[in-house]
Amino acid sequence: MSVLLNRRRMLGMSVVALSGLASLRASAQSKIATSKSDALIVVDVQRCFTKGGSLAVPDGDAVVPLINTIAKKFANVVLTQDWHTPGHVSFASSHPGKKPFDVIDLPYGKQVLWPDHCVQGTEGAGLHPDLAIPHAQLVIRKGYNKDVDSYSAFLEADSKTTTGLGGYLKTRGIKRVFVCGLATDFCVAWTAQDARKEGLEALVIEDAARGIDAQGSLAAAWTKMLAAGVKRIKSADLA
Ligand SMILES: [Zn+2]
Repeated sequence: MSVLLNRRRMLGMSVVALSGLASLRASAQSKIATSKSDALIVVDVQRCFTKGGSLAVPDGDAVVPLINTIAKKFANVVLTQDWHTPGHVSFASSHPGKKPFDVIDLPYGKQVLWPDHCVQGTEGAGLHPDLAIPHAQLVIRKGYNKDVDSYSAFLEADSKTTTGLGGYLKTRGIKRVFVCGLATDFCVAWTAQDARKEGLEALVIEDAARGIDAQGSLAAAWTKMLAAGVKRIKSADLA
């Protein structure tokens, strides 16, 4: 009798232990492990888009320490820089009578006008001084054609001029990109959607990005990203 009881106890204990193990495994499995075929794309974490900048994204500085931490989980990191000519077509100051956040029609479509920002070689165009990702392998500059804007790190706003990033990632065997940075509803969103067009898996790390949210642009961007197959994750989802 006592042997039977002991057996039952042992069986009961082992069932508890096993179910504990199973739940541990399940939580480990739900985390996303990164590999050599993944790249982190850090979008436009530049002085102009952060505190004190000419086009500061609300709470933009908050992403910097988090991105520094996340970047350590990636063997491959690409940084991007908005890199405009003086008098760039996306600047309100280039269109007499227009002001920032007005929308105009250009040959390639609608263009939101911005305060002057990220002019080539200026301090404002520099990366945020606290960004610390020494192992980043590529800095891709975009928006350097005076008559075309480029929110996306892959394609300019004319939807045909490539930056070369798609080819770079392909030849390096990258299959999946994680996108973070500034701003969620513009350069992050367009980059993530164009990654999908390049046949890459694309995930946006929501808490490592901040939006401008001009006239509902943040919600609209998420709707478009999700429809394009972009996944929405948090930094805690990374293993
Ligand atoms: Zn710009």
